[in-house]
Amino acid sequence: MVIRSKTLRLVILTSTVLITIIVAIQLIWLQKVYLYEEKQFNINVSKSIRSLYSDMELVNDVSDNVQKVIENVNPDVYLLKIDCSPNLEQLWINLKGELTDFDVYTDCRANVYDTATKKYIAEQYIDLPDAYFPSKNEKELQIYERDYPYIALYFPHRGQYIVKQMFFWIASSGFLLLVLIGFGFSIFYLYRQKFFNETQKDFVNNFTHEFKTPLAVIKIAADVLQQQSTLDKPEKLKNYAGIIRDQTSHLQSQVQRLLEIAYTDRSSLPLKKEKFDINLLIAESINDLQPLIEQKHAVLNTNFAVEQLELTADRSYLRLCLINLIENAIKYSTAPVIDISTKVDGSTLFIVIKDNGIGIATEHQKKIFERFYRITDGELHISKGFGLGLNFVKKVIDTHHGKIEVMSEVGKGSSFIIKLSLK
Ligand code: ADP
Repeated sequence: MVIRSKTLRLVILTSTVLITIIVAIQLIWLQKVYLYEEKQFNINVSKSIRSLYSDMELVNDVSDNVQKVIENVNPDVYLLKIDCSPNLEQLWINLKGELTDFDVYTDCRANVYDTATKKYIAEQYIDLPDAYFPSKNEKELQIYERDYPYIALYFPHRGQYIVKQMFFWIASSGFLLLVLIGFGFSIFYLYRQKFFNETQKDFVNNFTHEFKTPLAVIKIAADVLQQQSTLDKPEKLKNYAGIIRDQTSHLQSQVQRLLEIAYTDRSSLPLKKEKFDINLLIAESINDLQPLIEQKHAVLNTNFAVEQLELTADRSYLRLCLINLIENAIKYSTAPVIDISTKVDGSTLFIVIKDNGIGIATEHQKKIFERFYRITDGELHISKGFGLGLNFVKKVIDTHHGKIEVMSEVGKGSSFIIKLSLK
């Protein structure tokens, strides 16, 4: 069980790592596409500007290198050096024409800078066909002081425009991510299903084993009883009848456990509450376990702080809980010395069952209350059982709005503490 839950954790961990790596690669990939689109935008703007210079005589000589007269002050702003005052009407028309010709579809603010006043003397909003963004209320273009006049081209929505150009890549990455997450979940659920099937199989194996042995013993005893030689010897007869009785009571207790399974399967337990003395119930539960106590030479000490401690709860469920806890305390100890105590603090009743057994490692302490959870020592189970007892106990205590806690140290022993309200 522990080994399988480790594999389950490994599966989750591996898929998380894989998904993270793939997402990281996707992000790097998207960043590369962004840089490529940004470069493409820059090339397209440069081409439009070059065409603009050849359309209009903005500088005296542009033949050698247009790049010399363009200054890219920041990715959104281009300054185009001019030597004369251009015909503004013509300039705006040409500018719009060139930008559209070279596929620059995001809106642009064009300003003409004057060296004498150190101000923009003309401004035009060039409305390009990109309809996605609100156009009129972005911030004003700051003034870049230069000792020559220039036309400033400002693309306020350049970033968004590039991201829009990348729509296909972003959408396909998102889709891939969704597929991956779906895939991860499917693997997880498939594996979890497998995990449950295996535990179910474990349970059936354990269970068959628990029933097979007593049935075989009963059969042998019955065969012996049928023999004439046995019928003549009352001592032998008594002995074999005793064996059959013991095995039948063992089977009975297994059937009781099966009932517990049926109950733990339900989401809530129907409680039949009555008033009773909890100390008396503990004494009765100890009595029920007498054969096991004798077999393991267990020492049981009780310490009841209050005599006649009245509690209103479901008596028979609580009795099963006590039997389960005391039985575990004996089962999981080599030379069991068990202390069972009750005390009252305010309106809370504490029942503590303390053993000197093998103890429970911290990582198992929460899980032992789960259905079918058993701690394995390598591949071997330390003791026979189904891993249902504590789950049942917790369910009963929870239904009573109480609490069950475990404190344990490996090699030293465990204490199970039940807290119940006396009100
Ligand atoms: P089962 O005893 O049938 O295996 P339980 O639900 O009663 O099932 O207990 C679950 C597991 O918790 C046990 O398999 C055992 O490993 C551990 N456990 C329970 N009680 C004790 C205890 N008193 N000391 C040590 N281990 C315990």
